[in-house]
Amino acid sequence: MNVLLFPVEMKGSRSCNGTIKNGGHPYRTPWCGEGMIQDFDLTARWSTLLHAHFTEDVHNIAQLWPDVQSLEVSYRTIEGFDPTFAQSILEQPDLHDDASNRAVRELLADVGYGNINPWVRIVHLPSDQVRTVSQLRSDDIGLMISIDAVVTKISGVRPRMYSATFKCAACEHLTIIQQPNEQELISPMECSQIDGGCGLTNRQTRFHLLQERSTLTNSQFIELQELPEQVRGGVQPERISCVAEHDLTG
Ligand SMILES: [Zn+2]
Repeated sequence: MNVLLFPVEMKGSRSCNGTIKNGGHPYRTPWCGEGMIQDFDLTARWSTLLHAHFTEDVHNIAQLWPDVQSLEVSYRTIEGFDPTFAQSILEQPDLHDDASNRAVRELLADVGYGNINPWVRIVHLPSDQVRTVSQLRSDDIGLMISIDAVVTKISGVRPRMYSATFKCAACEHLTIIQQPNEQELISPMECSQIDGGCGLTNRQTRFHLLQERSTLTNSQFIELQELPEQVRGGVQPERISCVAEHDLTG
């Protein structure tokens, strides 16, 4: 279903137009030119990696579900498999998040476990990707990094919309939209004809949210604080609020 609604070919071509605008400053995407990997290759590449090194771990998830809901993949293993691919994970984590989850779910579906949806978690990032809370800078935004800190506060666990299903009022076609942000609900821009819809835009038709067809996930706010040994004398330790999701909550 996700593949239909988020055509990977479209994402691949969109991320490879040569330049995209970044606050008025066009920059070249790391995906273009030599060594380019497009989205639809990413899932295939993840499948190859999982087949080569994690078949047993994936099988274990199927056996231990729902007590175990994620597959831990060491960055060192990925680097040994393909250093360029590993580097691209650090630079474009969102793309790899989708691709890796899709790959592990396809692998499970192939062996008869199409009803479970585990998450891939990349662990053991290289030391130059590790920050303390006070080291975080704008350059880190959008990258995969690791933060060395202590958890000082946790909120209660709350459900939030993870993937929302909408029904077009004109033709009753269903559209699923992934919801990356708990603050706002993203509704369809149009009833996509490519996916079998009527082609009307959100100004020409209405989209009704179908709660019972939507997927919720667990979400929890946590506060991280610098470790005592990272703080310079006389300065208050810095803190940052984060969101933990899925099986990281609890
Ligand atoms: Zn429609």
